[in-house]
Amino acid sequence: MKKKRSTRRQETLQQILHQTREKVVTDIEKQLGQELDPRRIDIAMDTGDWAAFELSEGIDQRLLEMRYKTYKEIADAFRRLEAGTYGVCERCGEEVPVERLKVEPFARYCVPCLTQIEALQEAEKETGKLYTL
Ligand SMILES: [Zn+2]
Repeated sequence: MKKKRSTRRQETLQQILHQTREKVVTDIEKQLGQELDPRRIDIAMDTGDWAAFELSEGIDQRLLEMRYKTYKEIADAFRRLEAGTYGVCERCGEEVPVERLKVEPFARYCVPCLTQIEALQEAEKETGKLYTL
């Protein structure tokens, strides 16, 4: 059964994503020492060639790549928000509470599902058997 999603919730989710994006963009720009140009970063990520950025000595590229990955995840989350699938548990289809998304904007499961998934994964590790959800 599909519940109608409230506009209010959509607005809050949008806000969360905007804030998350702003933060990561600021982090990337601070690290680069220049404005974020996603296209140039795309190319650098693909080729591993950061020469165009004249990165300062000792810059943590792994951290930069991690932040960029988050940046891409936010873009994906915005697409899912548009499609109405953002903030919906991928397992049971229930809405993931806003409070949880504030802490973990990319949470794909609600807490009860996540707890079950983790318990299954734990059991798989112990027994070496695969359990399907
Ligand atoms: Zn769920």
